[in-house]
Amino acid sequence: MTLFWKILLACLVFSLVTAAKCGVLHSDETLVASPSSRNAFGNTFYSEIDVIDVDGPEPVPATIGAGERIVRAFETDCGTFRFTIDATAAPDLMEWAETELVPVVRQWYPKIVEMLPSEGFVAPRRFTLQFRNDMGGTPASAGGGRVNMNSAWFRRERDREARGCVVHELVHLVQAYGRTPRTTPGATRTPSWLVEGIADYIRWFLYEPEAKGAEITQRNLARARYDASYRISANFLNWVVNHHDQDIIRKLNAAARQGRYSEEIWKESTGKTLQELGDQWKKEHEARLTTPESSD
Ligand SMILES: [Zn+2]
Repeated sequence: MTLFWKILLACLVFSLVTAAKCGVLHSDETLVASPSSRNAFGNTFYSEIDVIDVDGPEPVPATIGAGERIVRAFETDCGTFRFTIDATAAPDLMEWAETELVPVVRQWYPKIVEMLPSEGFVAPRRFTLQFRNDMGGTPASAGGGRVNMNSAWFRRERDREARGCVVHELVHLVQAYGRTPRTTPGATRTPSWLVEGIADYIRWFLYEPEAKGAEITQRNLARARYDASYRISANFLNWVVNHHDQDIIRKLNAAARQGRYSEEIWKESTGKTLQELGDQWKKEHEARLTTPESSD
């Protein structure tokens, strides 16, 4: 055996041992930043530098006191992805976040990354989920490596919509469609109904299908257009996946991220134009909902 093969074998054994060890989730660190760093952090809304360095100094226990941030760090997949929960604005929600939200993020962020690949793309490895008290009526938003969570809304929805809402926002972190059009001349922008439709497709049809949150019923049939965004577009995407092309989400995502989305993709993938697909989808719902024995 040559030296090369010996080294290769040694590397393989080492990685297998490491992988086996990583089957156990690492315990989580608690980080508390100083008031001065809080000020800097607080001013960097949507910036690219707002993820706390989990490789930083030794963690110290969190306490809820004036000027201290309530932040905990977690990881998935042996540290492939690291994320922090910042509950400084809502300390009462940290326990819920740790017990209810963190397991969802650990399981679903890597899944979403796997579902939405594109050539040369590396999904954000670090991100923050931050409770905020300044979001008005917006439940949540995502950008710059951060998911912003409206504390009041999350308190109200903690046992209902809160986790699914975060799954939707995690999709936005992975989509990262905004980068290419800014940096590549001639790149196309993806319509927002499709961006939101993909996020809600993953949420309602893959993460929580039992909730049936994106159904077309008598109540919303009149509004059912393929580009009506959110749940309705999610329903349309699910129909295209089931009836025409199981791979359509991956194709649309790659095109959107690379700034080459166009309606041609629908025709190439399914043989039908986007409008034809939208019409056929709507007709099927109309037929289903207008038969005598149907109900919503
Ligand atoms: Zn969204």
